[in-house]
Amino acid sequence: MTASTRPDLDSIPAYVPGRNHPGAVKLASNETTFGPLPAAAKAIAEAAELANRYPDNQALELRAALADFLGVTEANVTVGCGSVALCQELVQITCDAPTDEVVFTWRSFEAYPIVTKVGNATAVQVPLTPDMVHDLDALAAAVTERTKLIFVCNPNNPTGTAVGKAELTRFLDSVPERVLIVLDEAYFEYLRLAPEDFPNGVELGRTRPNVIVLRTFSKAYGLAGLRAGYAVGDPAVITALMKVHIPFSVNRVAQAAAIASLEARHELLDRTDTLVVERDRVRDALLAAGYRVPPSESNFLWLPLGERSAEFGEASAEAGVLVRPYGTDGVRVTAGDPHENDLFLSFATDSAVLRR
Ligand code: PMP
Repeated sequence: MTASTRPDLDSIPAYVPGRNHPGAVKLASNETTFGPLPAAAKAIAEAAELANRYPDNQALELRAALADFLGVTEANVTVGCGSVALCQELVQITCDAPTDEVVFTWRSFEAYPIVTKVGNATAVQVPLTPDMVHDLDALAAAVTERTKLIFVCNPNNPTGTAVGKAELTRFLDSVPERVLIVLDEAYFEYLRLAPEDFPNGVELGRTRPNVIVLRTFSKAYGLAGLRAGYAVGDPAVITALMKVHIPFSVNRVAQAAAIASLEARHELLDRTDTLVVERDRVRDALLAAGYRVPPSESNFLWLPLGERSAEFGEASAEAGVLVRPYGTDGVRVTAGDPHENDLFLSFATDSAVLRR
């Protein structure tokens, strides 16, 4: 006889990552195509030699480096096994009844509905605007006395669109202080909005104890395979996160690589400038070919292809480029290096899917 597990888990889909296939160009998971910098590779090798020892469970050195980098105190920062673990932990620290509500835009990051249901809470999904941007007024209007948490992914995955500082400030001011607002900035390093409207969650959160910011070493820092993300916010929220954190889940190698990458951040962030140029080049080519593509502030582009999404994804894979179809909503394609992007464009601009 099999042991009994929570019956409600049957209705929760497991997280489905972007496809991978040996030899194919992978533009399906918003990774960077660059490998770790030499300084990070050295730190990785050195840390691996101590694999028989547990890592620092409190990640003190990494948190100190982050605090210094962000201009906050160590009590304002904690780390997670990727920022996706922090998403799950944020539900754990705020929700303890099935009637508790977690509000977020849909479509947004695939993990939000999953971590909400795993946390036995109720997901409240608010549609994007017709321009595929967060509808912040509608998000604020969806808050009830049962709302415990709001996820705002900025720039939004998978649409790539971003909301600016003025709009975000109005939204943060309109939400009751008892509700924790998560600004998920996994793609922060690719934002290029004008300085006066630049939505820096850490700055906006300084005066707002109910704002918590998530960032990650997986994207611009190129460490997706090692799993290190971080949260910045009020010390009370950070302390709560540290209580539900799975002990030692940010491993020694990940911590060392993150510290080295932070030290070498100028080299790493030069790469994001190159990537942003490529992203805009791919978007221009897709627009010229007749696709609808919202402006992106991330390292990926969104093609709202509706019913044609799956077919487009399959045809692209057959052409050797893996992209990420999302049901009947659209397809997300990560900007890669110039060669990868050219391969994708030569498929996409000639695709039969476009002509129907
Ligand atoms: N937030 C968003 C919006 C993401 O797109 C992702 C990765 N797909 C994550 C969080 C999680 O990233 P990681 O766990 O690798 O830090």
